[in-house]
Amino acid sequence: MSTNLFGLELDALTAHFKALGEPPYRARQIYAWLYAKRARRFDAMANVPKALRARLAETGEVRWPEVADRQHSTDGTVKYLFRLDDGASIESVYIPEARRRTICISTQAGCPLKCAFCLTGIAGYKRNLKTWEILGQVATVMTEAAEIDPDGSPERAWNVVVMGMGEPLLNYDATVSALRVLMDPEAFAITPKRLTLSTVGILPALEKLMLEPVRPNLAISLHAPNPALRRELMPIEEKYRLEDVIAAAQRYPIPRGGRVTYEYVLLRDTNDRPQHARELVRLLRGTHSKVNLIPLNPAAEIPFGAPSRAAVEAFTGILSDADVAVSVRRPRGQDILAACGQLHLKKASAERAPVAAR
Ligand code: SAH
Repeated sequence: MSTNLFGLELDALTAHFKALGEPPYRARQIYAWLYAKRARRFDAMANVPKALRARLAETGEVRWPEVADRQHSTDGTVKYLFRLDDGASIESVYIPEARRRTICISTQAGCPLKCAFCLTGIAGYKRNLKTWEILGQVATVMTEAAEIDPDGSPERAWNVVVMGMGEPLLNYDATVSALRVLMDPEAFAITPKRLTLSTVGILPALEKLMLEPVRPNLAISLHAPNPALRRELMPIEEKYRLEDVIAAAQRYPIPRGGRVTYEYVLLRDTNDRPQHARELVRLLRGTHSKVNLIPLNPAAEIPFGAPSRAAVEAFTGILSDADVAVSVRRPRGQDILAACGQLHLKKASAERAPVAAR
């Protein structure tokens, strides 16, 4: 059987090499080729003896998930659709900016949480991703970005946000394994402050994450200033309550003394009114945190509208007047369906359409 070495952490690689009768330093060399240099063939691994490369190729492989589609936005954003072995599909997004480059990655094919405004939830849940499928998204985007956008100067450092499809804390082991490889200076070398995990706040998993030796930044999907409204938008509120999620998030040790981010998707006439902003102020006042307002990225399947510009401005004003740190997410890639889940849904319906027509 052929083992995919891509996705293995150093200890698993070392065990694999031990079984082949090879010393641990070889595992370390291959580890760097896999994740620091992102070689896709054993043949490219120049400091590994030819005979060993041939043996590795017989018993194993280096495999990334397969790109099924790419959509290029006029603003430089690139949306990727990956087709997985079992036919599941996932999305990643490359977002170039003047001072940094960001990759948004998925951790599940679909999502079981069913937030009312999220297309991924509306489309349903398939399965957890494996570590190699999570890391392969980053490797693919980094490699292709170097080709389409060669200005990889250190001032444009990579950021990774775990904000694509799925709930990362419902796929804890594979996600945290991927995060370790992303943050390892000998591997992808993303510094923890440039890595952000976004979650609705799966409490037992969040408690576990706090105890990991190296942790990413934390963004909590809040979306409502009170439990009743949050329950309408996010069924998970039944299980992990707003106040408990905030209390846990405030204990989370953010890298380098940074702050927790609370994400708040603004939905027209639903959670975007001044009274909601005032309620949010009361909820967060005194916490060491910041709010990221996200005007809804609308789609035909989503039963909510985007907020008006005036509503976004009024909401922002109320928070900043009360000294709650606030930013508004700029929409990117709107011409290419960059709202999470849109590309996946479009592909799936395009593939179903001919069958339905028969
Ligand atoms: N499950 C995790 C991570 C994936 S969602 C979480 O909920 O945090 C990442 C962010 O995108 C969340 O804040 C989510 O609410 C937001 N989001 C989902 N659909 C959106 C849409 N149509 N427009 C704007 N933001 C959306």
